[in-house]
Amino acid sequence: MRLSTPLDIGRQLLAADALYNRVPVGERDACIAAALDRGTSLAMAVRDAWGTDPDAIAAGRGVPVVDTESSADFGTTIVFANYATRPLPGCIFLYRPAIARAEAVLARTQIAVAPRIGSARALYLAHELFHHFDGADGALPAARCHPVTLLAFGRWRWTSGLASLAEIAAGAFAQKLLGLRTHPHALDLLVCESLECESLVRESLASDSPVPDPLVCDPPVRDHWMSDDSRERPRAA
Ligand SMILES: [Zn+2]
Repeated sequence: MRLSTPLDIGRQLLAADALYNRVPVGERDACIAAALDRGTSLAMAVRDAWGTDPDAIAAGRGVPVVDTESSADFGTTIVFANYATRPLPGCIFLYRPAIARAEAVLARTQIAVAPRIGSARALYLAHELFHHFDGADGALPAARCHPVTLLAFGRWRWTSGLASLAEIAAGAFAQKLLGLRTHPHALDLLVCESLECESLVRESLASDSPVPDPLVCDPPVRDHWMSDDSRERPRAA
C-alpha cells in the first residue's frame, strides 16, 4: 500500500467536502497548504506552552477527556472521536470501539506497510485538541480561512467556510505535535480499507466466489473510498 503525502491526503479530504466544487481549481492546493501550515504552526505554539503529551495538554487546559465504550458511528461512517463545544471549555470524546479498530490495523500494518503513525488514541486526542485550540488564539478558525461563495446577488455574497480545511489542519496539528512521519488521516484510510476488505470477504464467503486476502485490497477500493458515489463504503469522520 502506498501512503500519501500530506498534500495528497489534503486533496482527498478537500475532494470529499460538500463544497468542493465551489473552490476554484487553481486555489485548491493553496487552501490545503495553508491549512497544513495552520495546523503545524498551532502545534508548535501549543508544544512550547503545554508540551507534547495530549492528555497533559487537555488537563492543563481543563478540557475533560472521556474514553467511552459507546459508538458514535452512523450509517457507514466511522466516528473515532469528537470535540463537543458545550459546555465550555468543551469536552473530548474518544470512542473506544472505533479506536480499537484503528489500533488493530496499526498492529497489523505498522512494520510491514505503514510509516510510524504512533498510538491511535494519542493521535485522535491530539486531533481533537486542534479543534479546542483552533481560533482560541484570535486567528480565524481554519474552516473559515477560505470562504467560498454560495450565492451572489449584485455586490452581495453569501459565503460559507470549508469544514474539510479544519480536518486537514487538525491532522497536521497532530502530526507535528506527536512527531509523526505521516498525516494521521492515513490511519483513517487504512481502517476504512480494512473494513471494506472485511466486507468483501464476507460477501465472497456468502457467494462462494474467491475470497480476497484482507491485507491485499484491490487498489480501486482505496482510490474511491471517499468519492461521492461511495456512500455505502466505510468512511471516517
Ligand atoms: Zn476533526
